[in-house]
Amino acid sequence: MILNKSLDQWKNEFPLIEDIVELKEVCWTNNKEGLASEELKKLDVTEEMVEDARARLDRFAPFFASAFPETKSENGLIESPLVEVGNFKKELEGFFGNKLTGKMIMKLDSHLKISGSIKARGGFYEVLKHAEELALENGLITLEDDYSIFDTDKMREFFSKYAVQVGSTGNLGLSIGIMSAKIGFRVTVHMSADARQWKKDLLRSKGVTVIEYADDYSKAVEEGRKLSDMDPYSYFVDDENSVNLFMGYAVSGRRIEKQIKDMGIVVDSEHPLFAYLPCGVGGGPGGVAFGLKLVYGDNVHFFFAEPTHSPCMLIGAMTGMHDKVSVQDFGIDNLTAADGLAVGRASGFVGKTLENLMAGCFTVTDENMYKMLKILADSENIYLEPSALAGVPGINYMLNSETGKAYLEKYNLIGKEENITHLSWATGGSMVPKDIMEEYYNKGKN
Ligand SMILES: *Cc1c(COP(=O)(O)O)cnc(C)c1O
Repeated sequence: MILNKSLDQWKNEFPLIEDIVELKEVCWTNNKEGLASEELKKLDVTEEMVEDARARLDRFAPFFASAFPETKSENGLIESPLVEVGNFKKELEGFFGNKLTGKMIMKLDSHLKISGSIKARGGFYEVLKHAEELALENGLITLEDDYSIFDTDKMREFFSKYAVQVGSTGNLGLSIGIMSAKIGFRVTVHMSADARQWKKDLLRSKGVTVIEYADDYSKAVEEGRKLSDMDPYSYFVDDENSVNLFMGYAVSGRRIEKQIKDMGIVVDSEHPLFAYLPCGVGGGPGGVAFGLKLVYGDNVHFFFAEPTHSPCMLIGAMTGMHDKVSVQDFGIDNLTAADGLAVGRASGFVGKTLENLMAGCFTVTDENMYKMLKILADSENIYLEPSALAGVPGINYMLNSETGKAYLEKYNLIGKEENITHLSWATGGSMVPKDIMEEYYNKGKN
């Protein structure tokens, strides 16, 4: 029984569950999607909160420029390139066996500085917000100070009294660990079984304590939370519910708006943007989606992309049960090569916040993520980790599946496919060691 219903009852109510539990690739669209102008008003998260986060990151820019010299050229702002991937799109037509009309662009969070994944957005932000709060409370800074002061031994000594802890499948641990260590916090990362060895090694080399678990992400979070709660000086980064992480991700909205404009791409009601966001627990893609909705309203349609073995947001959102159900409840194993997406239970906070704004969810097999990884490398010389390819099939689902076509029809977009810009968010990969990237590539070849 799953929440007092048998699997057959669930299948009766939501026929797509049949294919989901058989691990088939599926696309679901959300019939609860409402008007952005009305739905955004109902939320506990606001544009002012995103603006506050943006201003905070601006205050920390001198710190970045001082502590991470690689960010100096961009004056301490961490932002990723946005590129058109026309060659890739052409190759994908062969891969999917379908014509792919419209423009395809990719946001390369894989190449965000310092930690090489989308987690650099939320993770850095939450650590720095906590550091700022402690420093303000203790009279060490004012809001008007030059924040390069955070890169001094005096500040590091102060922060060494305090601890930061987090549970992670890998990349969040990298970003929280690296930033916390730089600030001077004692930091412990609780890593799930999916986490790659090189990520643990890298963190340990920076003085981060890494605790490994034989279980999946949810267990690592639970244990991390427990240990942190026992230490009054410890701060727990709660990936499942964190509004701070969410805001760090949401800052991307105004930033990408400028990049899209600079590329000469128009987004309006006749030229909508479709965003495809790889989803684990939901914080990263959820925050990004919120940022995009604030900027583009009804002219952006966003989908969460998940592995066929970890469709937690899909099941949570479709059933409306959010974090009350896990993929394991439905007999799905949550075992995937897309380690950043290996999450069996979605964030209740994100699911509920976005339930009337998301366009839908779709799934992709590990095999196809590897194949697309190779095709992208060959056609554009861009190397991503498997998770970061999950959003790529979005363009094909929209243009060529029955579900996708029905969605376009609903929004009066049939015949206007040429006008659509398809944005695939490439969430990680530039830090993957060369030999491991070669393994990924070869898996895609064979
Ligand atoms: C974490 C991660 C995601 C998804 O972010 P969530 O906040 O877990 O949903 C996507 N891609 C990569 C590479 C990640 O590390």
